Amino acid sequence: MTLLDAARRSSALPLMELCQAAHDRKLASGRPQTLALYEIEPPGLAETQSLHSDVVPVAVCCLDRIGHADLLHALACGFDVIYLQVCSASQAREHQRQEVELVRSLGGLGRIVLFDGAAGVDRRLAARLLPFPAVAPEVLAVGSRRDTARASAAALLPTSVGHAALPEQAPYGTVRLDNDLCNSCNSCVWVCPTDALSLTENAGALSFVESLCTQCGLCVSICPQRAMGLEPGMDLTAYAVLPSVLGKERKQAASGSAGPASGAAPDAGSEALQTYAAATPLFSEHDLSSAPETRHTGRV
Ligand code: SF4
Ligand code: SF4
Repeated sequence: MTLLDAARRSSALPLMELCQAAHDRKLASGRPQTLALYEIEPPGLAETQSLHSDVVPVAVCCLDRIGHADLLHALACGFDVIYLQVCSASQAREHQRQEVELVRSLGGLGRIVLFDGAAGVDRRLAARLLPFPAVAPEVLAVGSRRDTARASAAALLPTSVGHAALPEQAPYGTVRLDNDLCNSCNSCVWVCPTDALSLTENAGALSFVESLCTQCGLCVSICPQRAMGLEPGMDLTAYAVLPSVLGKERKQAASGSAGPASGAAPDAGSEALQTYAAATPLFSEHDLSSAPETRHTGRV
């Protein structure tokens, strides 16, 4: 199988077809699904047949091209556990470790196993697994790979988890602003490569959209006042895709001295939020009349 070639040619998820097949098999048989990804075939792995689950062994050209979005998507929609061989190239191992750590933080804890060589893999593949609930693959593979990762994490984590803390260097998170230090120079807005930061309509405050922030740190580096800081994490509520106001206007709104700022997220349960979320693929599957009760972080 030439997964990597497919991944190079397009931005499509390279594991999509495998996920679809695993999802269909699981629905038909009720048996748990195991995915084993490797660069160098461990002796005997291809012949391994688990007594308790369907095992799908897949050769991959470069394992470091399989990122957290692919792995989260596979766990959310078809596979119950993934065995992932450690990258053979030493320079790729740290990247792979970070991707796996991200998967574990976003609902894959205990369901992704790194292995180095064949030792112990056969025994583990024969272990009894409980099948996890699965979501149809195409429901989660919407928008960008970041959108897919976010939707998959929302499916994997309990609905009571509104915010997932993530390790340092994770490409998801929010920014902290020290209002007392900020001199409103707007340098952070001009340097932000993803438009996660912008100015509110009257330019009175900074507006921020968490789902767009890659935690690149450019805003922190350019800030002459050292007023910005990064906070890795993932907001799993509908508010992640809405602008929230950083800065002085938010303080005023909180104290009741001013109305909601232009560009601010609407109130939980408001008609505007319902409309916005219904038009947003990630959240259109959820019942927003009840979701904010459990997933709202109170961040807006
Ligand atoms: S956070 Fe820093 S860079 Fe951004 S407007 Fe304030 S002072 Fe300027
Ligand atoms: S960390 Fe990067 S993407 Fe996020 S707000 Fe700052 S400049 Fe924009």
